[in-house]
Amino acid sequence: MTDSVDVLVIGAGIHGAGIAQAAAAAGHSVLVLEQSAIAAGSSSRSSKLIHGGLRYLESGQVRLVRESLHERALMLRLAPELVRLQKFHIPVYRLTRRRPWQLRIGLSLYALLAGLDHSAHFGTVPRSQWDALDGLDTHELEQVFWYHDAQTDDALLTAAVVRSAQALGATLAMPARFLGARLEAAAVQVRYLQDEREHECRARVLVNAAGPWAGALARTITPAVAVPALQLVQGTHIMIDYQPQAGFYYLESPRDGRAIFVMPWKGHTLVGTTEVRYRGDPADVQPAAHEVHYLEGVLHHYFPRWRGHASPALLGSFAGLRVLPGGEGHAFHRSRETMLSTDRARQPRLLSVYGGKLTTWRAVAGRALQLLAASLPRRPAIARTDQLMLA
Ligand SMILES: Cc1cc2nc3c(=O)[nH]c(=O)nc-3n(C[C@H](O)[C@H](O)[C@H](O)COP(=O)(O)OP(=O)(O)OC[C@H]3O[C@@H](n4cnc5c(N)ncnc54)[C@H](O)[C@@H]3O)c2cc1C
Repeated sequence: MTDSVDVLVIGAGIHGAGIAQAAAAAGHSVLVLEQSAIAAGSSSRSSKLIHGGLRYLESGQVRLVRESLHERALMLRLAPELVRLQKFHIPVYRLTRRRPWQLRIGLSLYALLAGLDHSAHFGTVPRSQWDALDGLDTHELEQVFWYHDAQTDDALLTAAVVRSAQALGATLAMPARFLGARLEAAAVQVRYLQDEREHECRARVLVNAAGPWAGALARTITPAVAVPALQLVQGTHIMIDYQPQAGFYYLESPRDGRAIFVMPWKGHTLVGTTEVRYRGDPADVQPAAHEVHYLEGVLHHYFPRWRGHASPALLGSFAGLRVLPGGEGHAFHRSRETMLSTDRARQPRLLSVYGGKLTTWRAVAGRALQLLAASLPRRPAIARTDQLMLA
């Protein structure tokens, strides 16, 4: 295994994969360490949406929504087999908190930020067609909006980005577990475990893309580096044995107003997610019984007839961890921007990725490379990531 590289990346989730691809495309030598499997962490447990995030407009995250919609358009072009545009429905009842006029403003802004192309169209479903909405409860239903967003297979997308990085010359060591790193004047000495043997590698820069492990991992680096206040928030999905025919549904939980998605997925339905503070080891995250009940409750509230429809059974559930900035208040209102943190402003040796979205992986990788540019030698670029097809 190489004992000296330009960029050493910890983690083959979507961010590690994206940064490896961007660094290799810029002509750098790259080694990725992954402790278990590609997309073993949050990148296989997401809602699988490549989306602008309509609800983030409510918390004023306009920059994030604009960037996400730009990346959505790019992914639809670069990964047509992996990312597909889908029709979403938003039902509005007499007691729904978000009123039709608010949704109309939100969807108009969303369309504007998406550049007003065909993917930005939205409208309402005529009352005469409500019966075709998979048994959606129509009692006190006032309006049903439709718009478009995209769905992917998060694990397959991550694997495609890893393959793209490898095709550009990056090396993947897997399973290989990062053990520790020492920051030197202009390099990093890294220790990792592979084949039950400890290895050393010298890197010009180290990228900590360890997802929910990233905070704890940064604290093992010597000399100590600043780590921002972070919170791990668990999100659970359930899988139901029935596939909606009309598309996706974006619902408001009747209990607390949170956004819940009902999504066709491989012949079944995913319903998610919850947001519950998590304090344990990221490797042990599991859906809790109360989260499964909560999601079943939302589904049965909106689709009372769905339940009787071939009695769809609960097939399973899975949980993943979001990394959010620490703070008070509900996780729902916390920023979903990716935090990129370096050990020093000039010539950083370490860059840590905290939080973020599946959707913005390529843009985040580009920003990471810019932050690291002063620490890396100039090399002839071999590709542009906005032109690399993914399959
Ligand atoms: C419930 C939920 C739903 C979501 N839905 C969406 C969505 O619909 N759309 C969207 O855009 N975003 C969504 N997100 C956000 C998105 O999933 C994450 O931002 C993204 O997957 C994080 O990727 P990552 O590469 O940072 O981390 P991860 O995917 O967790 O990757 C980190 C990797 O590092 C490895 N690692 C850790 N420690 C070590 C070590 N010591 N040595 C070697 N390797 C190590 C792990 O094994 C893991 O593979 C969702 C997140 C959650 C939790």
